[in-house]
Amino acid sequence: AVVLGIESSCDDTGVAVVTSDGRVLGEAIATQADVHAQWGGVVPNLARDAHAAAIDRTVDSALAAAGLAPQQLSAVAVTIGPGLGLCLRVGAAKARQIARQYGIPLVSVHHMEAHALVARLPSAAAAAAPPAVRMAATATTAAAPAAETHGSSSPGSSPPQQLLVVPQSPEAAHHSAHEAVAASSSDRAQTLEVAAADSADPATVLADIGASVSVPFPFLCLLVSGGHNLLVLVRGVGKYVQLGTTVDDALGEAYDKIARLLNLELRPHGGAALEALAREGDPRAVKFAVPMRKYATCDFSFAGLKTNTRLAIEQQLAPERTACLTPEELRKVKADIAASFQAVAVTHLTEKTRRGVGWAREVVPELRHLVVAGGVACNQVVRGSLQQLAENEGLELVLPPPRWCTDNGVMVAWAGIERLALGWAEPPPPTTTNPTQRPAPAPASTASTS
Ligand code: ATP
Ligand code: FE
Repeated sequence: AVVLGIESSCDDTGVAVVTSDGRVLGEAIATQADVHAQWGGVVPNLARDAHAAAIDRTVDSALAAAGLAPQQLSAVAVTIGPGLGLCLRVGAAKARQIARQYGIPLVSVHHMEAHALVARLPSAAAAAAPPAVRMAATATTAAAPAAETHGSSSPGSSPPQQLLVVPQSPEAAHHSAHEAVAASSSDRAQTLEVAAADSADPATVLADIGASVSVPFPFLCLLVSGGHNLLVLVRGVGKYVQLGTTVDDALGEAYDKIARLLNLELRPHGGAALEALAREGDPRAVKFAVPMRKYATCDFSFAGLKTNTRLAIEQQLAPERTACLTPEELRKVKADIAASFQAVAVTHLTEKTRRGVGWAREVVPELRHLVVAGGVACNQVVRGSLQQLAENEGLELVLPPPRWCTDNGVMVAWAGIERLALGWAEPPPPTTTNPTQRPAPAPASTASTS
């Protein structure tokens, strides 16, 4: 099966085309960092407008990168929450329109489930995937491509040539065969719908997944992102046992807040800038207390650490103290605070995850894998500390590649595939009787003559 995934829960419009045997055929992402940078947070109605401006072109770019026509999709998956309602609706409306127009099933995906399940994509997927087409959500000209991209696409233009030379999947070839038959049978649309329905057969999808996943169930999953901080025992798709959550803020949110207080670059993420600065600092320079040590739970808390870090910033960066510092000295003061915050935050994450391993083993003694996902899982210090924990506990650590830790379409497409395999998809919304909304070039009157 080939699934198109759409993510629009926050400030990234992410779209990708992924197969049930774990190949990422094409990916596109439109970022809104420039829209929100001046406001110090994501502004919901601006975000909605930027998603609306970008959604069509992001879908088109992902399909073009995959070398597929929408008629060749088996299903469309979309994030339905949690997230900003205004933004979620843009993605959901687009997904519904595609499902209706091409007569394919619609799969609803939970955003955090997508963050967790993307770890099951075969580990070879990242190396084989074409680079994501990156663009600014609202710009009329394409954003400067990041170093890893092959280029960027302007609205309305086709993506760069090299993105189109992706090897065709067996499914695509299968569909192409159908397409040829269909074209000659003068009822192209109807035949293609049958082909799509065939390839979304849950048994086939499940067989594909079984052969290719990199992490079997069950696994322990630490989800650390901008809005969530969860420790979850994942026993299967839809079978989640929450062992811990934050009692206040998520770690990603704390990273973003402190990055703002230190006047760091907030694009693409404040957390990444804070990590970079922390590399120059001494993690023992400022003494912060490790949160929640008194509590024999797997819950997290970052509000106190955030406040203590803010107080350290206000104190150490007070004008009377910094007036006589050179720019290098000032930077070192900031780096020391950043490194100290990060060290304590990561210690806290690791301590609670260690307790979670014990809890999880009481339920599943055969536990073998620890997954860390969500945007903060891009962080090298986080990765290193949990790698150490996994080794000590005799677990294998599984980390999605950084670009699939922050919000993206690949994780939604993959979670869609996992749900599709269990038959958890809605049938296509009722098709319209209006022949102009059909993908087929032939009018309905021609189709009915076959
Ligand atoms: P949620 O998934 O909870 O709804 P979100 O979708 O906004 O929230 P993600 O896109 O998963 O969050 O992750 C973004 C978060 O990850 C931001 O808070 C960002 O600062 C943080 N982040 C990204 N890279 C790093 C890094 N290298 N170090 C620390 N934090 C990082
Ligand atoms: Fe997210």
